[in-house]
Amino acid sequence: MWGSGLKPGKALARCILAPGFQRRGVGGHRSGVDGNSESARVIVLGGGLSGLLAAWHLHRRGCAVEVWEASPVPGGWAQTLPWPGPEGQPGYLERGPQGLLVGRDGALDHLLRDLELDLRPTQPKGPRWLGKGGRRQPSPATLTGLLRAPGLGLAGKARMLAEPFIPAGSGTAENLQDFFARRLGEGFAREVLPALVAGVLAAPPERVGLEALPRLKRLEARGGLLLGGLRAGPERTCLPTGGTGALARTLAERLGCVITSQPVQALEPLPEGRWQVHGEGLTREAETVVLALPSHGSAQLLRPLAPGAARELDAIPQLDLRGWHSRHAMVPSWERGIGLLVHPPEGRGLLGAVSLAADDPRGVPGLLQLRAYVGGAYPVAPDLTAWAGVFAELRRWLPELGEAVQVREEACPGAFPLLEPGHGARVARLQADLPPGLHWLGAARFGPGVPDLAEGIAAWAESLSVPRAAGGRS
Ligand SMILES: Cc1cc2nc3c(=O)[nH]c(=O)nc-3n(C[C@H](O)[C@H](O)[C@H](O)COP(=O)(O)OP(=O)(O)OC[C@H]3O[C@@H](n4cnc5c(N)ncnc54)[C@H](O)[C@@H]3O)c2cc1C
Repeated sequence: MWGSGLKPGKALARCILAPGFQRRGVGGHRSGVDGNSESARVIVLGGGLSGLLAAWHLHRRGCAVEVWEASPVPGGWAQTLPWPGPEGQPGYLERGPQGLLVGRDGALDHLLRDLELDLRPTQPKGPRWLGKGGRRQPSPATLTGLLRAPGLGLAGKARMLAEPFIPAGSGTAENLQDFFARRLGEGFAREVLPALVAGVLAAPPERVGLEALPRLKRLEARGGLLLGGLRAGPERTCLPTGGTGALARTLAERLGCVITSQPVQALEPLPEGRWQVHGEGLTREAETVVLALPSHGSAQLLRPLAPGAARELDAIPQLDLRGWHSRHAMVPSWERGIGLLVHPPEGRGLLGAVSLAADDPRGVPGLLQLRAYVGGAYPVAPDLTAWAGVFAELRRWLPELGEAVQVREEACPGAFPLLEPGHGARVARLQADLPPGLHWLGAARFGPGVPDLAEGIAAWAESLSVPRAAGGRS
């Protein structure tokens, strides 16, 4: 097995301690696409949030690092794209997250503070609903909504109140359905959970392992969802000025070592545990390579080097999502933004929709900007492959919605990795098969939520036992 050789952390420590590379500015280290003569200490493959976060932590530890990103712009899914209004007014849409859920003192909280990212003040949110039983109900994500959740009954509600007294589970491959049934009761798991999980992970809770939402395990270890949540403190939604894409943009700017339009094509092992990275018109040597690519991309590179790890990566299902962005006349009382979750399969593939607040600078004044999600692991009715069908389905739950003045479809192939029950064991097998000097990170390892990626990558960096740069905080 590859894992029995040099510990990956040691290779990184060598990179930090090598004379001449200590605290070397990464910006100064970058050589252009024709700079084949220089070698980088660490090459991060993939300039999505995972790769940028990995590079950020290495950079803060004084490591000379460079990022290779295939597309012309870094950020991966986390990009804010221009979408001018009907008369050419400035406007934007998000390719991925519309906002960032930030827990107090978590890795994402630290990162936002370190980057001094300009954030819009958090505003109260507008109405949130659950579409279920053919009717629109208050969202169960709020306490009042939860107490009025349809189908729960008195016994179901009473069972939820017992949650603080439920001991932590000991199973290793629990799925979300079993976890919530154990903690909050069968009623909650059957009547409420599917819409919540579909809205976040686009999959049925019985198909998703607990590893997809690592925060749940942490809360359970701190006394349960209620007590652990109280101890951890409230989470807030942060909206960076300039959209959530500003996070990736700022990371890339501060790093100064992201080479865009530079797809990696192959990895070649060299003597003494070094690596040669081959790309279009560029070949570079590195002591350490970090794979922060979509799973299939990492699998492709690893196939000749670590077939076992490649097989594990290939076995992680990827969920395709379709996002429909639309602009409509503003609906009175929806100015603070709305949210809708649909209890699957009632939406026939429509999982939910969310709108921007009227004063959100990404939107166009006077218009309601909505994003609807379709697909994921759920079958999509044939008429929902076109806007007319999606709009008709939306109107079933949101009858106030007028005809769209603008529509744009954003296909999101492979939007989410499906972390199935037992994913932790798969990750352990994969890691054991990785050759020394190669690291693997990303949503398929830590879960797709940006806070989970931030947490997982900060812990990964911490585990490298590399001294921190003075004043650095990761
Ligand atoms: C529609 C949608 C909505 C979402 N909403 C939320 C949300 O509300 N909250 C939340 O927390 N999370 C959300 N997420 C999840 C979150 O955005 C992702 O999990 C996260 O951005 C993944 O980052 P990543 O770097 O791991 O992967 P990616 O963003 O996929 O980045 C991988 C990068 O690798 C690059 N690449 C591919 N092949 C190569 C190659 N050969 N060489 C070099 N580079 C290569 C790609 O171009 C890409 O930039 C959402 C995701 C989507 C798609």
